Amino acid sequence: MKKRRRKLKKEVYYILIGIVIFIILIIIGINKIKEYKYRQTSEYHLLEKGYSEEETKEILTFGKEKIEYFLNNEKNTQIISLINEKYYLDKNFDKYIEYLKENPNLETNIIVRNINIHLNYDFYEQTYPAKMDLDTSILVNKYYYLKSDYIPDDLVTISQTYSWGENGSQKTRQVVYDAFIDMWNSANKEGYYLMINSSFRNYQDQESVYNNYKNTSGQTYADSIATRPGFSEHQTGLALDIFSKNNTNKNTFKDSEEANWLKENAYKFGFILRYPEEFENITGITYEAWHYRYVGKDIAKYIYENNITFDEYYAYFLED
Ligand SMILES: [Zn+2]
Repeated sequence: MKKRRRKLKKEVYYILIGIVIFIILIIIGINKIKEYKYRQTSEYHLLEKGYSEEETKEILTFGKEKIEYFLNNEKNTQIISLINEKYYLDKNFDKYIEYLKENPNLETNIIVRNINIHLNYDFYEQTYPAKMDLDTSILVNKYYYLKSDYIPDDLVTISQTYSWGENGSQKTRQVVYDAFIDMWNSANKEGYYLMINSSFRNYQDQESVYNNYKNTSGQTYADSIATRPGFSEHQTGLALDIFSKNNTNKNTFKDSEEANWLKENAYKFGFILRYPEEFENITGITYEAWHYRYVGKDIAKYIYENNITFDEYYAYFLED
C-alpha cells in the first residue's frame, strides 16, 4: 500500500512538472508570436528607421498611403512638418516632395505655399484659364488668365462723385459698386474722400498699356510695371484703384491717412489690398497701396485676419 501511494505521488509530481513546462512553452510561444507580429508592424519599422517614438506616433496618424511612403523612403522629418503645415494639400504631396528635394533649405511652409500657388514656375511660364464660375472669387494673376473677349455682363458706370475721368469711362461690376459706396460712406463719415482712378479695363486697353511699356522699354520692364493682357485683375471688373481727393500720387499715397484707413477697413466691405508690400514676391506685383479687389466679406475677412494673399486663399479653399 505504502509503495503504491508513493508511486502515485511520484506520477502526480511528474504530471505537474509536465503541465508547468507546457505552460512555460506556451507563454514563450505566445511571446515569440507577439514579437514576430510586432516586427511586421509599421511602428516597428519606423522606429528601426530612426524616427522617435513621438514622430512614429504622428506618422501613424497620416493614413495608409503616407505611412507606406515613410516606410519606403529614407528618414526625413521635414516631411512630417510638411504634412502638418496649415495650408498643406494632399493632392500636392508628390510635388512638395520633389520641390523639397530641389530646395532642401526652404522652410516647409514656404514649400507648401510655393507649390500651392505655382511659384515653382516663373510667372507666365505655366498658365491656366481662370475659373469663371467662381464669380466674385475668380483668380486672375500671373498664372491664371481671362479670355480676350471676356467682359462682365453686369458692369455699371461709376458716378463722377467717386471717380476721375470722363463721364461713363469708369465702370465696375454692380456688386462691387454697391460695396464701394458703402465703404465710401463709411470713410466719408470719418472725414476721408475716396476717389477711384481706374476700374474695369478690357483686354485691348490692357494690351495697349502693356505694349506701350514693352515697345519703349522692353519686356522685362513692361512685366515689372504692368500685367500682360488677359492677366490683369482690372479685366474682371472686380478691381478698383482707389486714391483720395487729396492724394492721387502713386509714390506718396501709401503714407496717407486714406491709404491706412483702407488697409484697416476695406475688408469689412468685402475688399482686400491685393498687392501688399510684404508679399511682392508672391503676387509678382510691386506694392500697390491703391489696388483693391472685391472678393466678398467672408473671404476678405479671412485674408485680413490671416495675413495671406488671395493667391494662397484661392489655392487652399477654392481650387479643385
Ligand atoms: Zn489696379
